[in-house]
This record gives sequence, structure tokens and C-alpha cells, in this order.
Amino acid sequence: MTTISNRDQEAAITSLQQRILSCRLCQQHGYIQVAQPIVSGRASDRILVIGQAPGHRSITNNLPFSGPGGGILQKWLEQAGFPGGYLHEHTYLSSLTRCDPGRNPRGNGDRRPSPQEVALCRPFLEEEIRLLRPKVILLVGTMAIEAFFGKVRLEDVIGTFQERDEMLLLPLPHPSGVSRWLNEPAHQKLHQQALKLLSTWRDEFAL
Ligand code: SF4
Repeated sequence: MTTISNRDQEAAITSLQQRILSCRLCQQHGYIQVAQPIVSGRASDRILVIGQAPGHRSITNNLPFSGPGGGILQKWLEQAGFPGGYLHEHTYLSSLTRCDPGRNPRGNGDRRPSPQEVALCRPFLEEEIRLLRPKVILLVGTMAIEAFFGKVRLEDVIGTFQERDEMLLLPLPHPSGVSRWLNEPAHQKLHQQALKLLSTWRDEFAL
């Protein structure tokens, strides 16, 4: 019974990923020039990582979190006791939108996807959570955190977690050089608290 159920879950996730890959909604609505969604993850993954949106390097590599931010996130996982390569081999990598929103026209860095783009893509994320039923959800960066917690200050939520439907939601700062939040020693302490929680869960749930 369990095997069939696992197989059904795997098939449902594969089918969902195919639907995501063929989605062109944001292009059809004129929000982006070219929709080129990327997906990464397996039905067996028990940690779901939710970021803001893939950057151009991730799109080029056809692999989410394959830019510098992904490298930093992998290091954070290692600080929490996970082995090298865990991020790409054993976590399900998702984001608020699956296509590169492009560069920010008003300066450096990537454009934040608009509320309209996030709303168009959100059903895919909800479906992933429903099918995957992860034990831990890592909310990476302010946009991903606020998509689940509402408007918050990072210093009020980093180092804390919420439990919803038996899933543990852990906010983390954005792992990029663009974010200066981690420059503050007090913020680094909160960040270490977050990694400590993750480390505890790794042992407790054999992640
Ligand atoms: S960001 Fe999401 S909703 Fe928009 S085109 Fe890409 S996959 Fe579709």
C-alpha cells in the first residue's frame, strides 16, 4: 500500500512539474518577455525551500539556487549539520515565481516579481506543499517569509518558527551579498538560532 501511495505521489509531483515547465502565463500577461520556468525536487524530499524567484544564472543552469545565493544556503545547511550537496540532492527547491523576473530597472539586483506574477504562480506552490507534505519549509528572504507570515520585520521572525499542519516553517534571511541584514552582530545571533533549530530538527526527524 505504502509503495503504491509513494508511487502515486511521485507521479503527481512529476505531472505538476511538467505543468509548471509548460506554463507561459506571465509572458501571456506581458509581465515578462520570455517565460522559462525551472523546477527541482523529488517526492522523497522532506525539506521544501521557498525563495523569491530564480535569477538568470539559475535559469542558464536550469537549476534553482545555482548562483552565489545557493552556495551560501548550502553552507548554512552544513552549519546545521547537513552534508555537502544536500541542497540540490535532497531538498525540494521552489520559489514564489519560477521564471526570472529580470533585472531591476531602477538599479542593481534582480527585479522583485510583482504581486500579479506571484499570484499567478502561487497555485503551483500550494500544490507542491499539498503533494509533498514536507516536514520543514525554509522561507528564504523577506518576500518568501511575508508570503506566509504577512508583513514582518526580519529581526522579529528570524530565529523563530511556526508549525502549521504538522509542517515546521523556518524563516531565513536572503543568502545574497545584496542583503546587508546579516552584517549586524545581533542579526547574526538570530540567524545562528535559526540554524540551531534546523540542526535540532535534522536529528529529531532524521532529515
Ligand atoms: S512565473 Fe510561474 S506563473 Fe509566471 S510564467 Fe513562470 S511558471 Fe508561469
